[in-house]
Amino acid sequence: NEKKTIRSQVTPVAGGDVWSGVWVIIEYSNGKVAPVSWELLGEGRKLADAIGCELCGVVTGHQVDAVIPEAFAYGAEKIYVIDHPVLKDYRTEPYAEAITGLVKKYQPEIILMGATSMGRDVFPAVATKVQTGLTADCTVLGIDPETKLLQQTRPAFGGNIMATILCRTRRPQMSTVRPRVMAMPERVEGRQGELIHEEFGFNESDFRTKILEFIPSDAKSAFLDKAEIIVAVGLGIGAKRNIALAEELADVLGATLAGSRGAVEAGWLNHDQQVGQSGVTVRPKVYIAIGISGAIQHLVGMETSDFIIAINNDPEASILRVANYGIVGDLFQIVPAMTAEFKKR
Ligand code: FAD
Repeated sequence: NEKKTIRSQVTPVAGGDVWSGVWVIIEYSNGKVAPVSWELLGEGRKLADAIGCELCGVVTGHQVDAVIPEAFAYGAEKIYVIDHPVLKDYRTEPYAEAITGLVKKYQPEIILMGATSMGRDVFPAVATKVQTGLTADCTVLGIDPETKLLQQTRPAFGGNIMATILCRTRRPQMSTVRPRVMAMPERVEGRQGELIHEEFGFNESDFRTKILEFIPSDAKSAFLDKAEIIVAVGLGIGAKRNIALAEELADVLGATLAGSRGAVEAGWLNHDQQVGQSGVTVRPKVYIAIGISGAIQHLVGMETSDFIIAINNDPEASILRVANYGIVGDLFQIVPAMTAEFKKR
């Protein structure tokens, strides 16, 4: 493969060491915005107020007009847009170039993006291009009152500690943030702001990757992070054939089936059904944990659920500490009894 060197074609507006503003990269693909983008505008508002700077949204893609009023409604004061056919479908190289170009030109102080597949892919590339640090998978953000630096908190060492990371010397300060850990901000219909369209100085031939085909993922599990009721199974269920017990309960409740990494690694569920640190973060109205011990890596992905019901035969299981209702007993008796009871209603 012939290696192409792509050079950024921008001149900084601010210049020198002036870095200002909190930016949120709004993830838009296949006609949909990832809701974490709006959650981050809500979080970005708090950070921008604490520093005393403006909150901006960034939209890159093709035919993105529908996103603009939404981004203003969720609180962006200014929106930078790069709309170009090359950006129609997500690819690392063109998206990284588009975002990097804007960053070099406008020099934001802080940039945030969801820790989605896209955010986890493009942000390291952008951080490398602008030669700054990146804290991935944050669950808490704040501003140090003295230094005004971004405090980026994330699980570390396999989730055994929460580490707060500061980026002292480089700009911008960059974080990806887990979906569903920040609250959704209020949406104010008709809110206005400043819109800035920027050129994209590249062509298709500048990039090495081509999209050959787009295959959407399985619709059910793709929306795990939006499910209102989740029935999750762990290794306590014992065997793949026993998953049917949980499936039946999920069917009766109209719930989505998910599980622990234990259940995924055993080959009983797909990876996109995994809840937790290395899976999906969920925040349903009801989370029913069946035969899940409640390792910290699982808890970080579900403990903000509105209501947690845990079924476990070990009264010391950690999951019972976060549960609103803990049922201590044998899941093989309790789950069929629950299913039968809900069927009657
Ligand atoms: P176990 O810990 O084996 O728990 C099974 C539970 O079932 C036990 O509490 C037991 O008392 C109960 N049980 C058994 N029989 C019955 C019965 N008949 N009736 C009722 N209860 C019963 N894990 C995740 O889930 N998600 C992640 O994203 C994740 N990411 C990780 C990332 C890293 C870097 C690391 C190191 C680990 C990660 N893990 C993750 C793994 C995690 O540490 C645990 O190993 C895993 O969550 C355990 O899965 P489990 O609860 O299903 O199994």
